[in-house]
Amino acid sequence: MAIDPVCGMEVDEKTATITSEYKGKTYYFCAPGCKRDFDKEPETYLKPSTGQRRTCRPSGTRTPSFGTPIWARAASSSGC
Ligand SMILES: [Zn+2]
Repeated sequence: MAIDPVCGMEVDEKTATITSEYKGKTYYFCAPGCKRDFDKEPETYLKPSTGQRRTCRPSGTRTPSFGTPIWARAASSSGC
């Protein structure tokens, strides 16, 4: 499994459709919003141990209910 560098979610590189290449390495994303953010500022997400990973939620969308278990969100096919 690869890790989405933007939100930290696990992405299966065999089935991933949203990828980006940066400095010769391929990165995998769980949603188009994550790739977009990565492409904008790759270094921000590649720095180790910044501890500032954002949540996987495209900006401008409605805030999901906080009561949703994380596994339920991950299982959703509609992205994050
Ligand atoms: Zn993501």
